[in-house]
Amino acid sequence: MSRPQQITVLGATGSIGLSTLDVIARHPRDYQAFALTGFSRLKELETLCQTHRPRFAVVPEAAQARHLQARLQDAGLDTRVLAGEAGLCEVAAHPEADAVMAAIVGAAGLRPTLAAVEAGKRVLLANKEALVMSGALFMQAVRRHGAVLLPIDSEHNAIFQCLPGDYGQGLQRVGVRRILLTASGGPFRETPAADLAHVTPEQACAHPNWSMGRKISVDSASMMNKGLELIEACWLFDAPPERVEVVIHPQSVIHSLVDYVDGSVLAQLGNPDMRTPISHALAWPRRIDSGVAPLDLFAIGRLDFQAPDEQRFPCLRLARQAAEAGGSAPACLNAANELAVAAFLERRIRFNEIAGMIEHVLARDAVQPVADLDAVMAADTRARVEARAWLTRYAC
Ligand code: NDP
Ligand code: MG
Repeated sequence: MSRPQQITVLGATGSIGLSTLDVIARHPRDYQAFALTGFSRLKELETLCQTHRPRFAVVPEAAQARHLQARLQDAGLDTRVLAGEAGLCEVAAHPEADAVMAAIVGAAGLRPTLAAVEAGKRVLLANKEALVMSGALFMQAVRRHGAVLLPIDSEHNAIFQCLPGDYGQGLQRVGVRRILLTASGGPFRETPAADLAHVTPEQACAHPNWSMGRKISVDSASMMNKGLELIEACWLFDAPPERVEVVIHPQSVIHSLVDYVDGSVLAQLGNPDMRTPISHALAWPRRIDSGVAPLDLFAIGRLDFQAPDEQRFPCLRLARQAAEAGGSAPACLNAANELAVAAFLERRIRFNEIAGMIEHVLARDAVQPVADLDAVMAADTRARVEARAWLTRYAC
């Protein structure tokens, strides 16, 4: 009998991390948690270590690592606790890790995710910000190091499932006309523009269909999530931005579609539960039980579609512009958005100021080519400096 596959879960304490561990626990003979990482929820990380008994755990600081190490030892566990970005990169690239779930949120996930790619791992990519920031470099690294990149984002996982196996030779060659990226429209889909100035972080984080971390919940509410996903789709499927169309589909049952030149449109459907794409990517090309309930089409009854409203949700337009500009623009967009979302969650800016702040930062930064990771990080730093200056002037 073969040994269980060893899975590193970057961002194990988060929403995607926990869903991944749920799927792993359903298949103990096939998968085992190899390394678990956390950032602020270290008590939860300790509990996860006790349940899943990983070889490694990673926390931000050396002192936290010593503390957790002592507690795990007292509990009879031989988990080794590492610290910081070096620790994250070590468990992502470890020779005994078979697959890496990249589920850290934001730019903080870039280096560890790239470390997994450069070690030629099977990389399950949830951390879309990493790909948005470093697009061309990331995809070059995937090819150069023979990594297997599998999308976890439900839309991209759906597209992957609707494409033929040889789509890598070019979408046009395999007869794809368009990619249709579905979006729920978020909690403010029907909110009048004037009211968007008064919505709270609690309302923004109460997504109608999905239960997610706070940052992506705000991104969904502003539709920046769909903007980041548009850029993500361009890189994953080598598609120009004009071939990716956004369709509002409030029920979140169709997770995305591929439109072919012969008039066929293939879609992937399912209940909105991230354990489906996680199970798909873990087992691909096999299928395994994910714990997700079967889809009840009779209970759903109807599927609706609308065009997105870029007047009320300008983040989508900003992301499309950044995708078209290329170079440093997506990294700049991402960094400005991360700071804007954090400021909104801290109640320093209003919801409808998020887009204005990002637009300001993008306008101040001349697009530059990004030849290496240093150039990506330089764009990220420039945008953060500009975003902080904006916040100093305009935020509470
Ligand atoms: P969460 O906020 O729930 O989890 C984020 C994880 O990253 C946590 O484990 C957190 O640790 C860790 N983390 C946060 N900051 C840092 C840092 N500076 N260094 C190291 N680790 C850090 O987010 P989600 O699980 O919702 O999302 C994770 C990623 O997956 C995001 O990129 C998101 O866009 C993407 N995604 C999520 C979906 C979802 O349904 N949730 C769907 C599609 C994509 P701690 O909790 O201990 O602070
Ligand atoms: Mg998504």
